[in-house]
Amino acid sequence: MSKKILVIEDEPGILLSLKDEFESEGYEVFTAEDGEKGLAITKQQKPDLIILDIMLPILDGYEVCKRLRMEGDTTPIIMLTVKDKEIDKVLGLELGADDYVTKPFNLRELMARVKAIFRRTEERATDLTNYSFGQIELDFKKYEAKKKGKRLELTPLEFQMLKLFIQKKEQVLSRDDFLDKVWGEDNMYVSFRTVDSHIANIRKKIEDDPSDPKHIVSIRGIGYKFID
Ligand code: CA
Repeated sequence: MSKKILVIEDEPGILLSLKDEFESEGYEVFTAEDGEKGLAITKQQKPDLIILDIMLPILDGYEVCKRLRMEGDTTPIIMLTVKDKEIDKVLGLELGADDYVTKPFNLRELMARVKAIFRRTEERATDLTNYSFGQIELDFKKYEAKKKGKRLELTPLEFQMLKLFIQKKEQVLSRDDFLDKVWGEDNMYVSFRTVDSHIANIRKKIEDDPSDPKHIVSIRGIGYKFID
């Protein structure tokens, strides 16, 4: 599954060259020419990273960043700044961007920073050791699970599938995503039907009513989505 990058930038030349560059690296790219549209696309598309210019029409980059963080949105943000003196503010607590580049910037440098952020977020994701939702508690280190405080038997494969769901919370996962990320190189002879039946088993274990699942929901024609 390719990562999504949202570029919020009002200068068409920069916007287009960033779009081309990211697409050629295999990312899925969304664009917005003003801050308000940027916020709306963030909510719709849930990008994995945002490139955010500071000087923007309607809502400037400071305001976009501040609003996202105030709403608890932790999507990594790289800000495009013009002046060095903006840097402290951008990275500071008030705004909470993850990184910045100063205009005019070098595309290669920006790409390196994007990749560094993705590396960090992936490391964080694989570090996932404990997770609770509803009445379920999961310990990925010890492979132990509980439901309403009672031991729940999950197979190692089911743990791995749940881990992927949790890492990609509220994102739609296809059966291919499970084959790639859970079965990996050994997935050649694994059918979609196998993925579905494991998911049915997980539902039986974690859902109060497996016929009306609240945590692992089906997205018709695409796959599944995990909701806390
Ligand atoms: Ca601008």
